[in-house]
Amino acid sequence: MKALKELRFWRLERFLKKTVVSNNIYLTRCRQKTRAPFAGRFIFSIWLTFLFSKKNPKVSSEMKLFSILAVSQAAEWTYSDQGDSWKDVCSSGVRQSPINLQMVGAAQKSAGAWRFKNYDEEADWQVKNSGHSIVATTNTEMHMISDTFNDDANYKFHSWHIHWGSDTEPGSEHKMEDKQFDAEAHLVHWNTKYDNFDAALKMGDGLAVLGFFIEKDSENDVSADHDLDRIIKEDVNKNVQSMNANIHTQDKSLMNLFVNNVDTSQFFRYEGSLTTPTCDEAVIWTVFSNPIKIRQETYDKMIKMTNDKDENTVVKNFRNVQDVGDRTITFYTSLDSAASSIFGISTVFAFALLQLV
Ligand SMILES: [Zn+2]
Repeated sequence: MKALKELRFWRLERFLKKTVVSNNIYLTRCRQKTRAPFAGRFIFSIWLTFLFSKKNPKVSSEMKLFSILAVSQAAEWTYSDQGDSWKDVCSSGVRQSPINLQMVGAAQKSAGAWRFKNYDEEADWQVKNSGHSIVATTNTEMHMISDTFNDDANYKFHSWHIHWGSDTEPGSEHKMEDKQFDAEAHLVHWNTKYDNFDAALKMGDGLAVLGFFIEKDSENDVSADHDLDRIIKEDVNKNVQSMNANIHTQDKSLMNLFVNNVDTSQFFRYEGSLTTPTCDEAVIWTVFSNPIKIRQETYDKMIKMTNDKDENTVVKNFRNVQDVGDRTITFYTSLDSAASSIFGISTVFAFALLQLV
């Protein structure tokens, strides 16, 4: 009797998996214009999955994943106009990102010390092609704390990814004094005062993203000899070409990939949003003013390293800058770095002056 029940369960699960998977493939082949006819099929498959999981609590997590995948793919979006046609909060929001960061009008504050917990752990990274970028995750638990966050917030690391341009155009998301850098890496974290990432996504201080500008440099630049350069040039290069392809790489820490490659005592801070749909206005942004250097050769590989769902090379995967509105932008600098620059002028302020001449 038990065996019969098991068999019935297995058959039902197989049928359901087939339905959801076929719808998933169907969706992938369709374009946005023809979304309406298959919306019903999706709702049906999602409803079927949850009805099934309610009756059979031991429904496999794989099944649920297929269902979630189907939903996420239903919300297709592209960088064809750098995000200008994205809907809902993306167009109606009041604290959207990215923005042009400028010293004029920015508040100035003193930066305290960063506390990066486990950022020096050499983690096992899974680097995956999301169809829009590469996204790196790990099981190693890491946290970020800074006096500059309200309420001594403790942010837990979630993932990192990169935005880039093309062989002729730069592709950072934020600009600094109207300058667009070649690329930009984002380290995404969520506030541990909320239950999980999804809950944090609904709150104004739910996420904290660290933004690192990336600038290509000459082949022989020793400052480009670091793990970020290596992970792109050696590990990722051509190995995650197709959407959802992934690799594992060890021996690299967040410190060596990002933090150690810039002066983290100088940065812009403002309240913004995710820079991809659904553009949730949940992000406390920190963008460091000093760029990470990578080799020209590595940048050339970066802009060819991933294809989208249609097997087209992903280039210019950045959103255009958004209105700052009445938001306050704050520039933080530590007393040490201010004292070390001539007459107390920080490097970014000197940069702003250079732009004027
Ligand atoms: Zn991003």
